[in-house]
Amino acid sequence: MKACVLKENKVVECEEIAMVQNFENHVLIKVKACGICSSDFNRVYRNGAYFYPIVLGHEFSGEIVECGNRVNNDLLGKKAAVFPLLPCFECEFCLQKMYAQCKNYNYFGSRKYGAMAEYVTVPVWNIKVIPDDMDCTVAALAEPCAVAVHTVDKIDNLNNKTVCVSGSGTIGILIGLIAKIGGAEVSFILRNDKKLDFLKSLGFKNFVYEGTESKSFDTLIECVGANSSLENCVKYVKSKGQIILVGNPNGDMTLEKKLYWKILRSELNVCGVWNSSYKNSETDDWDKAIDFLYKNSSIVSKLITNKFKLEDGIKAFDEMVNSDKLCIKGVFINE
Ligand SMILES: [Zn+2]
Ligand SMILES: [Zn+2]
Repeated sequence: MKACVLKENKVVECEEIAMVQNFENHVLIKVKACGICSSDFNRVYRNGAYFYPIVLGHEFSGEIVECGNRVNNDLLGKKAAVFPLLPCFECEFCLQKMYAQCKNYNYFGSRKYGAMAEYVTVPVWNIKVIPDDMDCTVAALAEPCAVAVHTVDKIDNLNNKTVCVSGSGTIGILIGLIAKIGGAEVSFILRNDKKLDFLKSLGFKNFVYEGTESKSFDTLIECVGANSSLENCVKYVKSKGQIILVGNPNGDMTLEKKLYWKILRSELNVCGVWNSSYKNSETDDWDKAIDFLYKNSSIVSKLITNKFKLEDGIKAFDEMVNSDKLCIKGVFINE
């Protein structure tokens, strides 16, 4: 089968690789769509992969085309999204079904071969069947959308809350959409006007320009992972307010004393977000994410700004990084 292989730093080539044959408790998925995550740029351009060669891709969906031993054949022909984390099922967190906290996990597209390929073999536990009429390209947003659902779930009494998002990449925008539909008044912090018209086209009306005075908000959500963004979050939050940290840091995160003090004086509630809940008896962010994407597919499909073929290889990543056009989410599509 064809796959996009990261062979060494900055070298991604489409080539033939062998398919995995052992199917016990697994299904074979014909990949229809696989998103490029911001974490993939680190793997491709900054020596960020665990090993080489590797096939990247952890945000994907497709059609179940083969069922292994001990898998119900009714799944054949169904479309599915995939939870990309393979937990150990043995550690204290797995035993409590907090799989994102697993201390000994495997992961598609980072610790094992992922889905920038024609096919991928997936444990049946990791698949979420999606509606037959759901667009697989939209379903490839299930992973970032589950993180967004997980984030918004940390806000108590969302209705009428003022929520301000710092960072307008895929996850920041999905968080904004979910919070807005949940009844919050949503604003975005902007550095410049590059994404202004796009955000307006998604129905957002409130913007704060970095460095300007603004009213304060109940909840700030940090989705960049940069110092300036963290500083803005502390600046623009109300006393007794909440800061939710989502963005992966691109370096050390520091705060000047005055802002650190504000966390104390204003008794801010600061919390982190990691991944999403899956098949937990109390909450399953994936069910909510898939439902959200299905019901709002016309709006969320606007986030998919760049479509690629496996043959594009490194060109796909280069385009996402270098294009002057607005790039939110790039997705590899297999026709
Ligand atoms: Zn990702
Ligand atoms: Zn575990």
